[in-house]
Amino acid sequence: MRTLKNEKQQNCCICGTLINGYGHNPQGAMWKDNNGNVCEPTYNVGERCCDNCNVKFVIPGRLELLKRWRSNQ
Ligand SMILES: [Zn+2]
Repeated sequence: MRTLKNEKQQNCCICGTLINGYGHNPQGAMWKDNNGNVCEPTYNVGERCCDNCNVKFVIPGRLELLKRWRSNQ
């Protein structure tokens, strides 16, 4: 018998918070630590991140990648 827990509840692969809803693809997530070093989360294929981390890490990370890509043109 399938359990509701395994299907509906997943923890954020970045901060560990229980995801409310479907979550987001964490691909592209990155941030800078206090020393200015770029950090990227480690996660497995198929894992999801929460709304909060999507806004804080994934969107800025993707913008950064886009910026780098453009500056290489
Ligand atoms: Zn999170």
